[in-house]
Amino acid sequence: MSDKRSVRDVDVRGQTVLVRVDFNVPFKPGTSEISDDGRIRASLPTLRYLLEQNCALIVCSHLGRPKGRIDESVRMAPVSQRLAELLGLRVLQCNETIGRDVSALAGCLMGGDVMMLENTRFQPGEEANDAEFSRELASLATFYINDAFGAAHRAHASTEGVAHWLPSAAGLLLERELRFLGDALEDPHKPFASILGGAKVSDKIGVLDNLADKADLLLIGGGMAATFIKALGFNVGESPVEDDRIAFAKSLIYRSESGEVRLLLPDDVVVADRFNADADSRTVPVGSIPGGFRIMDIGPNTERQYCEAIKACKTVMWNGPMGVFEWEAFSHGTQVIAETLASLDDATTVLGGGSTAEAVAVLGLTDKMTHVSSGGGASLEFLEGRGLPGVEALPNR
Ligand code: ADP
Ligand code: MG
Repeated sequence: MSDKRSVRDVDVRGQTVLVRVDFNVPFKPGTSEISDDGRIRASLPTLRYLLEQNCALIVCSHLGRPKGRIDESVRMAPVSQRLAELLGLRVLQCNETIGRDVSALAGCLMGGDVMMLENTRFQPGEEANDAEFSRELASLATFYINDAFGAAHRAHASTEGVAHWLPSAAGLLLERELRFLGDALEDPHKPFASILGGAKVSDKIGVLDNLADKADLLLIGGGMAATFIKALGFNVGESPVEDDRIAFAKSLIYRSESGEVRLLLPDDVVVADRFNADADSRTVPVGSIPGGFRIMDIGPNTERQYCEAIKACKTVMWNGPMGVFEWEAFSHGTQVIAETLASLDDATTVLGGGSTAEAVAVLGLTDKMTHVSSGGGASLEFLEGRGLPGVEALPNR
């Protein structure tokens, strides 16, 4: 259980609250049409809660990468419009992030009003975590709520700095993230399995390292399986291998041989002759990957073994797809793992990573999981056991 103070632990009635959310939503290319408003929806419980407490809300977020300058293509207006639709309320959109006009508007807000600041990254002080910018943001409000889990791994002014200038607490989304990710790492119901996949070992070394000590069972899939399979002494054909990570893979294999952790590696794989959706593909044992072919997914025997192992677990943490799930021919491993997790009745299932969340969303299984993290990079850093600056800056209960 996280010991960070939550919005539910404090009396915020009638306050003017600066709420940092993660509204860094995707747009249909070249338009101002939001293609996925999931992040806006994810903030609604906190915003509604605060409105019920008769707070005036000053909502802020970054959007895109404007690098400290005004960039017309990433103004917040389309986002505040969508927020207004979802809340069923007017949302006043500021044209600036801070300044005299913004302060004047903030001063006029009443309980139940909602105002959105302009993109925090229009200000060079945001990513620099500049104290002066933090103080100006803070001066707009009487309380600060951080609900931007997806940005909590950044020590920026609106995610970290501002918390030093105002009484602060975590929003409901941030609280939920800390509870599920934190409990899985600190106090999991056992047996605890961790499934790791995705493109590269190097992206996941920190997570592997941290989870190897905590999990009873590690299951490896995805492109990074190739490095492990090569470490076992097999030929992996054209699969990209991170040769500088072979030693790391071997050390994990040794630890599993000495009984320190149970490590499951693919027994068969789906391979293809090109990295292409329509490549020529076949299923082979890991010991006989043909020259010229590369690993694209786990095979059916592996699926069976992994699913059986998972079914015996009480907590399952999953990060990283089992194959190139974006292409139908190589999506089966990821699909079967997702369906197995979805079918578990009395296990806690916690998913992290942007692609993993996307894969499960495409399958329509998000609601069947105990928790799917809203933060890609932030969830990875959390699973690595690193403190998140945006969380650390909040006071304890
Ligand atoms: P997450 O965002 O969930 O942390 P990653 O970013 O580590 O996951 O990896 C996701 C990517 O890994 C996906 O785009 C997927 O296509 C790719 N991937 C999975 N398996 C393979 C493979 N065998 N070869 C190449 N890429 C793979
Ligand atoms: Mg990713």
